Order: sequence, then C-alpha cells, then structure tokens
Amino acid sequence: PSPRSSVIIIGAGVSGLSAAKVLAENGIGDLLILEASDRIGGRIRKEKFGDVSVELGAGWIAGVGGKESNPVWEIAAKLGLRTCFSDYSNARYNIYDRSGKIFPSGIAADSYKKAVDSAIQKLKGLESNCVEDATNRTDFTLTPKTPIELAIDFILHDFEMAEVEPISTYVDFGEREFLVADERGYEYLLYKMAEEFLFTSEGKILDNRLKLNKVVRELQHSRNGVTVRTEDGCVYEADYVILSASIGVLQSDLISFRPPLPRWKTEAIEKCDVMVYTKIFLKFPYKFWPCGPGKEFFIYAHERRGYYTFWQHMENAYPGSNILVVTLTNDESKRVESQSDEETLKEAMVVLRDMFGSDIPDATDILVPRWWNNRFQRCSYSNYPMISNNQVINDIKAPVGRIFFTGEHTSERFNGYVHGGHLAGIDTSKAVLEEMRKDERQNDKQNQNF
Ligand code: FAD
Repeated sequence: PSPRSSVIIIGAGVSGLSAAKVLAENGIGDLLILEASDRIGGRIRKEKFGDVSVELGAGWIAGVGGKESNPVWEIAAKLGLRTCFSDYSNARYNIYDRSGKIFPSGIAADSYKKAVDSAIQKLKGLESNCVEDATNRTDFTLTPKTPIELAIDFILHDFEMAEVEPISTYVDFGEREFLVADERGYEYLLYKMAEEFLFTSEGKILDNRLKLNKVVRELQHSRNGVTVRTEDGCVYEADYVILSASIGVLQSDLISFRPPLPRWKTEAIEKCDVMVYTKIFLKFPYKFWPCGPGKEFFIYAHERRGYYTFWQHMENAYPGSNILVVTLTNDESKRVESQSDEETLKEAMVVLRDMFGSDIPDATDILVPRWWNNRFQRCSYSNYPMISNNQVINDIKAPVGRIFFTGEHTSERFNGYVHGGHLAGIDTSKAVLEEMRKDERQNDKQNQNF
C-alpha cells in the first residue's frame, strides 16, 4: 500500500513551509512535503553572480515602518538578515532620453503628476462601471504617448506605485521597502523556518518528510482522502492536501484533478492575471553610472513601453560589485526569455550607450532568470484585475473537498508578496486543522452511537 499522511503539502516555497510549520506545531507529525524542484524556496532564490549573491526572485521586504509590523520583517530582523533601504522616490528625477539627456526635474515632476492623476481618473471610471467612458475619452493624459509618459506609466502600473490606489501592504505595514542584501540570501529565512520543524544537520535538511524532485501530476480526491501521483510514478495518500503551486501553474496543465475541479474554481483561476517580472543582472569591469545620493534608481524613456525602462545599481547593496539590474515585465520578459542571453546583452548595451555614451565598457557577464518558462512557476506573481471583486480571490482560495489551496495568490490583502505567501500558509493550515477537528468530532459521535 502507498504511504499515508495526515496532510501532504505540495510545494516548499514560503507558503508551503509556513503551512507545514503551523501543522507541525499543532501536533501533525506525519506530514509530507512534496517539492518539484531540487531545492526549497520557490520564488525566493539566490544565485552567485560575480562575487555576490543576487536575488533572482523576491528581493525586497515591502511594507516596513507602519503601525503594524510585517511578520517577514520581524523574522528577518531576528535572523540579522542584512538589508538596505530603497528609496524609489528619486527615480523620477533620473529619467534619461535616448540621447542621454536627463529630463529636467520640472518636466519629470509634471509628467509624473499628470500620469498619477490620469491613472486615478481611469481607476475611478472603472470603479463606477463607466469602463468605456474612461478608456474612450480622447483626453491625451489618459493614454501615455511620449517616451517619458510611457516610462512613467510603466513605473506606476508595473511597479505598483502606491500613489494610484492604496495597497494594503503599505497601508498596514508602512511604505518603506528594504532590499535583502545578504550573502546567505532571502532564502536563509526559509531555511531557518524549516529548521524549526524538520531535522537538519550542517545547513542541510535531512528530514525524509521533505521530498525534493517530486513533481505532482495528479490529485485524485474523494470524501475519504486524496491520492497524489508524481511524475516518477510514486503514489502517496493523505487525509488532506495543501496545494501551494503558483497561479501560473494552476492555469497550466501540470497538475490534473480527478474528478476535475468545479467550474467556479477553474473560472476564478483563469480570471487572475499573472505577472512576469524579470530582473536582468549585468556585471561590468568598472562603474560608469552616477552613484551619489538619490541615484540608485534610474529610468530609460523609449518609445516602446517597458523597453529596458527601470534600472538600479547595486552599489548600495554590494559596494564594488559593479552590477546593474534592469527590470522587464510581461511581454518584454517573455520576449527576452525566448532569446539568447547574448542577444539580450547586446540590446541592454545599446540602451546603456544611449544613456551613458559610446565609450562605456561591455558587460562581462549577464544573468537572465526565466520565471515564465519554468514549468513549476509560469509567473512571478499574481495580479488581480483592478476592478475584480472579492469573489474571485475567495473562489481561488476556497478548498475543493479535501484539497486546500494556499500561496501568495490566495492572500486577500497581500497577494504578490513574500509576506502574502507566509500569511496565506498560516491561514490555510489553520483551516485544515479546523477541518481535522471537525472530522474527529464526527468520528467520536459515530463511536458513541455504536
Ligand atoms: P512559490 O514560492 O512559487 O512556492 C511554490 C512551490 O511549489 C515552488 O517551490 C514550486 O517549485 C512548487 N511546485 C509547483 N508545482 C509543483 C508540482 N506540480 N509538484 C510539486 N511542487 C510544485 N515579493 C516580495 O515580497 N518582494 C519582492 O521584492 C518580490 N519580488 C519578486 C520578484 C520576482 C522576480 C518574483 C518571481 C517574485 C517576487 N516576489 C516578491 C513575490 C514572492 O517571491 C512570492 O509572492 C512568494 O515567494 C510566493 O511564495 P509561494 O509559496 O506562494 O509560491
């Protein structure tokens, strides 16, 4: 017979590990974690680049300094994780045009204000259900056209600047953001979390309740339990399953359900937008960019929206590393993922030479993460449409029989963030514990009746 556990957790990212930890703390010793890749961490992932560790996935602890304390910030502080404050507010004063000129601060501030106002106007239009009204208006401020307008539009929308609409993370936890710049990586936080309930030795998890390289392909569920089948032909049984695969994975055909998921569930999953967000790292023999105060972030204004728009130098995080990071999103991310890294490097160099002149050195190394083409991710994070109602997220989160869903995409207030994943994991495991208690009560009643 196949091994049976009380709960199988699918995925060892922040939400899966948080869920498992709460279960373990509540006496569920016979849990099992099945992770498709060869490591824990999921979308929290460091990689060596040059002499430093760079974060390919989550980089910031967002939401710090407010009235409530961000739980991820608390854990990071306890572990002494090295972080750097990021001040995006100056980025708007470092906007370069294609001839390398910086837009005067007056023009930049003006364009910024216009873009914020029109985004707010558009949002109001959407909220009052005059969608057509808002999008068909000929008011030019609603449709960014010039390179600087396009660049600002990109920053406002693809980077979720809080000026447009209140973002729960900033409202609840504060508006400050800290970049994790620690050789042990953001993922150290997850390793330490795992260490609290899994057997570890010399920095390695040796507990056989965590199984790596186990790609779940099928969940067969009934009133009595769930049968989990993995790609390598193994079969596991459980009373309950917690599934933490990303919204991108749920939209793909990686995992099939028998019987299939109900329509309300698949429709909700389809309705959620997936964001692809790609940080491309470039290493140089020396610095040629300005590094003084207020210069960490800079923007390239091009007539194509999102074309190598948002840049950051790593001198604050890793002095002397000579690394630049450029962030692409969605279609640009997918385009770059499908071409060779040499091609991407060439494109980035043309952009940098536009901004800083033709005599700058070529990058000596490039790192291009591929979150979209990773079949265990298929996205960077979830993005609920601005006008979606709570029903969509409730349905995405709602269990189907004995299968419970978790992950950042199930966090009503903090979807898209590490703390969203963390809190979702805690929430989901509590819901499963509640269900287990109900089962117990029912069994007790039945036993009494006999
Ligand atoms: P995941 O980390 O994706 O964990 C799910 C796990 O399930 C993965 O390990 C996956 O391998 C596994 N899995 C998938 N399918 C299967 C299967 N079939 N069988 C078994 N296992 C499976 N957040 C911030 O707070 N700040 C940031 O600055 C930030 N920046 C980001 C930048 C990038 C580029 C990306 C990609 C994300 C960023 N995020 C950021 C978001 C943050 O990383 C995520 O919200 C969070 O890590 C998601 O955790 P999770 O547990 O929900 O999912």
